[in-house]
Amino acid sequence: MRVTSTDGVGLAVYEQGPAGRPVIVAVHGYPDNHSVWDGVVAVLAERYRVVTYDVRGCGASDKPGRREAYRLGQLVEDLGAVLDAVSPDRPVHLLAHDWGSIQSWPAICSPRFATRVASFTSISGPSLDHAGTWMREATKHPGATLRQLLESHYTVLFQLPILPELAWRTGRLDQLMAVSRGRRRSSAAADGKPPRSDADKINGLELYRANMFSHLSRPRPGRTRVPVQVLAPVDDMFVSVALQTQAPKPYASNLRTRTISGGHWVISDRPDVVARLTAEFVEFVGGGDETRALAKSRQRRHGTFAGRLVVITGGGRGIGRACALEFARHGADVIIADVDDAAAKQTVTLVRAAGVEAAAYHLDVSDAEGWERFAMRVRDDHGVPDVIVNNAGIGMAGPFLGTTVADWEQIIGVNLWGVIHGSRLFAAQMVQRGEGGHVVNIASAAAYSPSRIYPAYATTKAAVLMLTECLRAELGHEGIGVTAICPGFIDTDITRTTVHVGVDEAAQQSLREHAVASYARRNYTPERVAKHAVRAAARNKPVAAITAESKLLRTISRFAPPLARQVAKVDLNKL
Ligand code: NAP
Repeated sequence: MRVTSTDGVGLAVYEQGPAGRPVIVAVHGYPDNHSVWDGVVAVLAERYRVVTYDVRGCGASDKPGRREAYRLGQLVEDLGAVLDAVSPDRPVHLLAHDWGSIQSWPAICSPRFATRVASFTSISGPSLDHAGTWMREATKHPGATLRQLLESHYTVLFQLPILPELAWRTGRLDQLMAVSRGRRRSSAAADGKPPRSDADKINGLELYRANMFSHLSRPRPGRTRVPVQVLAPVDDMFVSVALQTQAPKPYASNLRTRTISGGHWVISDRPDVVARLTAEFVEFVGGGDETRALAKSRQRRHGTFAGRLVVITGGGRGIGRACALEFARHGADVIIADVDDAAAKQTVTLVRAAGVEAAAYHLDVSDAEGWERFAMRVRDDHGVPDVIVNNAGIGMAGPFLGTTVADWEQIIGVNLWGVIHGSRLFAAQMVQRGEGGHVVNIASAAAYSPSRIYPAYATTKAAVLMLTECLRAELGHEGIGVTAICPGFIDTDITRTTVHVGVDEAAQQSLREHAVASYARRNYTPERVAKHAVRAAARNKPVAAITAESKLLRTISRFAPPLARQVAKVDLNKL
């Protein structure tokens, strides 16, 4: 279909999907044309009427030569002309990326569009007026402003005559875009590049020249009541998450912000994710249920993990319970999985007192099938978790030659398989969801401190540390952080349950009493571990050595391995 805008420019408009269904109008950015939406349209057009069009200057639309023809006011007129043509009687849902989003903001902030637009999903394209105001308030967020200014350096180049055109024609800018697309690319990213012509790249430069400085230097921010969801890709090289999520806050009264894993071209890299999140919002605005993720996106709760869902294994007591309470203090909802049902329920009661939601499930972390059932239930009943804390673990001490096959199977089952299952199942859910996440594995200082007194325990913890490092390398591309927590001697019930192999019951009792007394003297509480663990997760630290002895042992293992080997020979039980 061809639509003529108010100044006579012809726009190429494309429609797909069943008539009579809610209409979604997708507006592309620079230097794209409507085909950048192909992957998203393929999914959305199964349920919705989806309209795309070539913005003036691009694709099959007319290409006016005058710079003024690219001013935002005229682009808003274009959008209005498209809406009149495709959905004259019913409001539409807008979905827009980059400059498509930049031009949609003034539209939804204009009273003329208040009843024409039912919802707006904005990706990587803040309002220039909101951005201008946000940058003027740089003293409130100096680091974020500086980062955004660095990321926007190319917009200055685009103001120059001839040079940017030359950079496109010689392929330099294509190279930059390839780098931005390839950086931290999800394994689930679609192959191929959206087709772009030289005309798309060169005509679109006028968008920058006609609008950037006039709006950024003299912002005239408008307000809107249209429901808006901002999907901010965490690895966007050009538009920071801070700008996308903070700038519209004062001006959009019905705003939701969500971070998604991916870079600037997430719309063509992860069309499935973009289509799913758009459809979720369209359904909700149309009267459907508010999903947990949507509720989270308009969170008014405070805290680093506000509205996040955290699953903690072995959360019935000790470090797991303390982590549950600490995450709750930071605003997270918590799911506890433990073999001890009564202890898990007690933790849930304590967590709820912090004003967040919590639930308890029975789980033996060494049970592969139990894990499958648990992971599915969590996803179906609560949604994909944002953080999995693989904490459940047991202690085992005594010489290697006194450790039976059954002992090995037991400790590897809980301490290593438990971590493997939790990471495997929930990381897969996080990757599929495409909104990032975090895996926290509770290892131990024993991971890097060889010792004659706990060979089985240290072996499992060393494996957990190595698994963490490997996972980190693999999952970083998916926006998933992975952290190993390595505590030293922590005063918990583990000293009462640790199995001392190769000794009779009386000796076992006496060794446990010795451990209980010395850990109590050390007096490092699980609550202190939890504080460090949650902070390390928030900062996506690779490894957090907690307690002085853990830090010392890590230093020795890295810089003085011969000394570590001497320490390994000491029988701590005889000290
Ligand atoms: P804890 O007080 O004994 O708590 C562990 C929790 O995990 C308990 O609720 C326990 O239930 C549960 N659990 C045990 N086996 C399980 C299984 N198969 N499936 C599900 N839940 C299970 O121990 P903690 O000291 O808090 O230890 C937590 C983690 O920190 C462990 O991985 C441990 O290795 C690590 N860590 C501890 C220390 C320390 O000094 N405490 C130091 C470094 C690392 P039951 O009580 O019913 O067994």
